[in-house]
Amino acid sequence: MAGKNEYIIPIKGLKEGKHRFEFDLKTGSINGIENEMDVKLDLEIDKKSTFYHFYFNLNGKIAVECDNCLNNYDEEIKAHHEIIVKHSTEEGSFDEGEIEVKFISLEKTQLDIAPEIYEYLLINLPLKKICKDGKCDPEVLKILNADQSEKKNNELDPRWDALKGLKEELNK
Ligand SMILES: [Zn+2]
Repeated sequence: MAGKNEYIIPIKGLKEGKHRFEFDLKTGSINGIENEMDVKLDLEIDKKSTFYHFYFNLNGKIAVECDNCLNNYDEEIKAHHEIIVKHSTEEGSFDEGEIEVKFISLEKTQLDIAPEIYEYLLINLPLKKICKDGKCDPEVLKILNADQSEKKNNELDPRWDALKGLKEELNK
């Protein structure tokens, strides 16, 4: 299992110009994400004299649980994100238009991009997760539906009302 140190970029040591880093994001390689995955991260850093421009390209698959039938299926990840990283006396992140600007301290010589990878993987998953092309497990759906209609029947069954009435009658 890969440690998170793998995602530390030695920014200070980079020469001005473009640099490329490639990462294979496998299952368990990002802290906090347990899903099975196979995602390629292609990171380009354009180092300018006063800032670094980070281009993240993510491409691959993450297994997620279907909200409908609870089976795991692969969700495709294809995403592009950019951030500007600048040295500053104050640290923090700000959105300037489209691109987030991240300020890091003047002394910082390296940058851990694991938090960015974590965020980008999660925000690119759909809120509603449903198996593609109606491939939900029919067996599970049958059970879930049967469960629901049974509940409904119990609620609507007039015999329950009759029993309730009888009970109230007896308690008088
Ligand atoms: Zn499903």
